[in-house]
Amino acid sequence: MNSNLPHAGAGPRVLLRRLREIMAQPISAQQRLDNIVELIAANMVAEVCSIYVRRAGDQLELFATMGLKRGAVHETRLVIGEGLVGEIGLTAEPLTLTDAPSHPKFVYRSETGEDPYHSFLGVPVLKGGHVLGVLVVQNRMKRHYEEEELEALQTVAMILAEIMASGHLIHLDETVIDAQIFSMRPFRQKGIAFAEGVAMGKAVMHASPIKVANLIAEDIPAELERLSTGLTQLRKAIESMLSSADSSLSGEPRDVLEAYRMFAYDSGWARRMEEAVRSGLTAEAAVERVQNDTRARMSRQRDPYLRERLHDLDDLANRLLRILVGAPAHAELSQGAVLLARNLGPAELLDYDPALIGGVVLEEGSPNAHVVIVAKALEIPMVGMADGVLAHVNQGDRVVVDGSSGEVHLRPDAEVTGYYTAQIASHRHQRAEFAAIKDEPSITLDGQRILLNVNAGLVMDLPHLHEVGADGIGLFRTELQFMVSSTMPRLAAQKAFYAQVLEAAQERPVVFRTLDLGGDKILPYGKIRREDNPALGLRAIRLALSRPSLLRYQMRAFLLAAEGRQLNLMFPMVAEVSEFVQAKALLNLEMGRLKRLGQPIPAQVRVGCMIEVPSLAWSVKSIAAEADFISVGSNDLMQFFFAADRGNPQVSAHYDFLSPAILALLRHIVRECDAQGVPVSLCGEVAGRPLDAMALMGLGFRTLSMPPASIGPVKLMARRLHLGKLQAFMTDLIESPNRSLRPLLRKFAEKHRLPV
Ligand code: PEP
Ligand code: MG
Repeated sequence: MNSNLPHAGAGPRVLLRRLREIMAQPISAQQRLDNIVELIAANMVAEVCSIYVRRAGDQLELFATMGLKRGAVHETRLVIGEGLVGEIGLTAEPLTLTDAPSHPKFVYRSETGEDPYHSFLGVPVLKGGHVLGVLVVQNRMKRHYEEEELEALQTVAMILAEIMASGHLIHLDETVIDAQIFSMRPFRQKGIAFAEGVAMGKAVMHASPIKVANLIAEDIPAELERLSTGLTQLRKAIESMLSSADSSLSGEPRDVLEAYRMFAYDSGWARRMEEAVRSGLTAEAAVERVQNDTRARMSRQRDPYLRERLHDLDDLANRLLRILVGAPAHAELSQGAVLLARNLGPAELLDYDPALIGGVVLEEGSPNAHVVIVAKALEIPMVGMADGVLAHVNQGDRVVVDGSSGEVHLRPDAEVTGYYTAQIASHRHQRAEFAAIKDEPSITLDGQRILLNVNAGLVMDLPHLHEVGADGIGLFRTELQFMVSSTMPRLAAQKAFYAQVLEAAQERPVVFRTLDLGGDKILPYGKIRREDNPALGLRAIRLALSRPSLLRYQMRAFLLAAEGRQLNLMFPMVAEVSEFVQAKALLNLEMGRLKRLGQPIPAQVRVGCMIEVPSLAWSVKSIAAEADFISVGSNDLMQFFFAADRGNPQVSAHYDFLSPAILALLRHIVRECDAQGVPVSLCGEVAGRPLDAMALMGLGFRTLSMPPASIGPVKLMARRLHLGKLQAFMTDLIESPNRSLRPLLRKFAEKHRLPV
């Protein structure tokens, strides 16, 4: 550091004390900013200090300056992304430069007279992850700014955030976070359907934002103590959530919460908050300061898995804030409430009594998040990615959540209310119909038995098997146990888990799928190697064969768990027959090993292969000669067949499953399997949609596996279907030049009064 330049040295604390004085003065917000720029310039020995405020139209307007020409105030405006200030607005990251004019983003504004200044330090003013403004210091000479100076400026930025969000500088309508339109008019938003079902109820905000009133510490050691006590309390709360025996999800949330607990003990997080207190902030302001950084990182993070992890951290910060300011842990719910949140962690959802939640709306979230798995298991309708909903909702508003279409209605008018009241009544009626046939087999009118299985993966899915009257578990996604654990499940844990699944299924068959990792399924504890196209990368069976020890370990657990019973195993993402043969050879090695050791083994082992990659669809004859059964994974098969990312809503919904092309491919698979006498089933999401399931039956599928909630609707349809008539109707249909056969199949269903 340059010895002529006393840095924020006596430092942040003096600065904060002076700031407190400025904040306490009975002056206008504009005057406060003017005083603040003077104070910072003096404290940091900077020739320039300027504050830019974000206004409507994504403009950053110079609101106060010490050092630049006064005439530029309220004149100079930079759009987000323009110049160095705009760059900070865009990235929400600080920028430190020794020679600003040589930076490619530098733009010169003559009205400011900033030509002589070389060094530049700018930080975003953040609130709730949004950029409200930018704070900048500049020096004439080329110099380096120290880490402590950056820290000090970030702390000041927090205080500026309060001034900017107060509505005293610009109208609140213009600020990004508080532009809440408390309108009484209806508002409709289309998000993404995360969990099926429809709900109508009163809006409850998951976490009304905590207002941190005291930002500046009076007594730093006391604040450190408060922080440490708060952290201890937080950890205790999570421990007790983990050990709570009477959780409505018996056992499984524990795994989900384990990952969450890790963050509560994260020493890096605690250290960053302690540092913020040492710089002069109160404990709650320090939590918020670190949370702001996390949120800004979260908004830039594109990897959905890492976003989820950052969200866990954000959730913990909220809890800690509530503890520190003595706010209740979560909102009060009344029966049928619709919970609204920016995002929710699984633990947060489980904090509430699920019986009281009618539905959930998230502004963010992702369809594969853990909270969605939990919501589905609890049968709570959920819509996610409903952009802007929080800005339009008032606590207590009537809300409709449509977990089928992804629509959210706030303050619906009489027409929408009437429509959904009828929908809810009809759902209730349908549920009664499904319950009535729960113990009846799914047999078509012309006597064809169709086996309807469920897809499962967590302990919380198991009771559904009997509740919905399924014939078995057609797909058990074993990677879910691995994904919700914070460490790799040991052999004993794996074995116990698989044995528990077999016990729960009683006599009904279970098909376990070996680990389908890679792609978007990443382990919290695994090494992540970046791939440009993870869906086409080293995933599932490829990963398993390249590192066979994990697969062998899992096979051992399966074999031990199925002692004396039937074991059905299948391999995911097989692209060529030799991969299947290799995997089977590993299983034989494990079997041989257990026999040699005199360990108990299953009474029978059946080995199946998934067809999820189009190449294998053209080797059905060879694969059927090797496999005991075939299961078509239509989710992946569709994505590779149409080259359309299944996780990208922009393309995934574009191609119709009922297109002649994919139906022709499936017919080919069924025919080849039938010719070889090898059982074939289909276990993608489409199997759970009555019209699509009907088409599959028409093609010759006699076993389908689907989400538990779909068993009732599909069984009802199957029991009213005359399969012979459908087959006759479909014979020539596949040759049709139509883009989709959906309209024709729907007509058939309507004509025969099939509930689809
Ligand atoms: C599939 O791809 O259809 C399938 C059932 O597997 P997953 O959805 O787990 O990839
Ligand atoms: Mg798949």
